[in-house]
Amino acid sequence: MKCSIKGCPGDYENRNIVHTVCQNDKVTVIDHVPAEVCSICGDVLLTPTTIQHIESILESSKSPERTVPLYEYV
Ligand SMILES: [Zn+2]
Repeated sequence: MKCSIKGCPGDYENRNIVHTVCQNDKVTVIDHVPAEVCSICGDVLLTPTTIQHIESILESSKSPERTVPLYEYV
């Protein structure tokens, strides 16, 4: 599929990405999210099904499989 960014000649390809969600001051990171990523500009598309699944993960109160170091850029 052609990239939707104006003037970008890239194509979307299926990749697993690291998706970061910031809600208020809380940062949540979800690894291996299936997405379509433009090979040129890196634009990311998530399907509605994937977004629903991410929301269900965020709403579930289960603890994460892994945790990550989080740094401030200062
Ligand atoms: Zn692009």
